[in-house]
Amino acid sequence: MAIREIVKIGDEVLRMRAKEVTDFGPNLGVLIDDMFETMFKADGVGLAAPQIGIVRRVCVVSVDGGKTKYELVNPVILKSSGTQRGAEGCLSCPGRSGIVCRPKKLTVQAQDRTGETKLYKVDGFTAVAFCHEIDHLDGVLFIDKAESED
Ligand SMILES: [Zn+2]
Repeated sequence: MAIREIVKIGDEVLRMRAKEVTDFGPNLGVLIDDMFETMFKADGVGLAAPQIGIVRRVCVVSVDGGKTKYELVNPVILKSSGTQRGAEGCLSCPGRSGIVCRPKKLTVQAQDRTGETKLYKVDGFTAVAFCHEIDHLDGVLFIDKAESED
């Protein structure tokens, strides 16, 4: 495993629409493991592949320090309900935070590193992290949605 360099705001890779993953070979597992390691090292709760310069639809989330690890390949939000407002930051936007309105509950379909399709029902802060990371795959940053910035 290896720590990858996190791309910062201003780099155009953060604004690109990431491509679907079609190759579920061993390189995908390496990428996902590196993403978790890079995220934990940076004290983040989520990381999307474009944030390390890989324009593919892959993100990882763990809001409990690694006890529950989500690897989301080609994620799609099937259903969302409710709203919640909370402070967000981003490893690609150091020193910035803002209040963002997000759904309270989500149903997300995604593949794992082997290509198997899984269904996730998440709420609370995990739902926020899922939305934030999936936004990255479409070139959207939290500052685009923030109602106010600190
Ligand atoms: Zn982010």
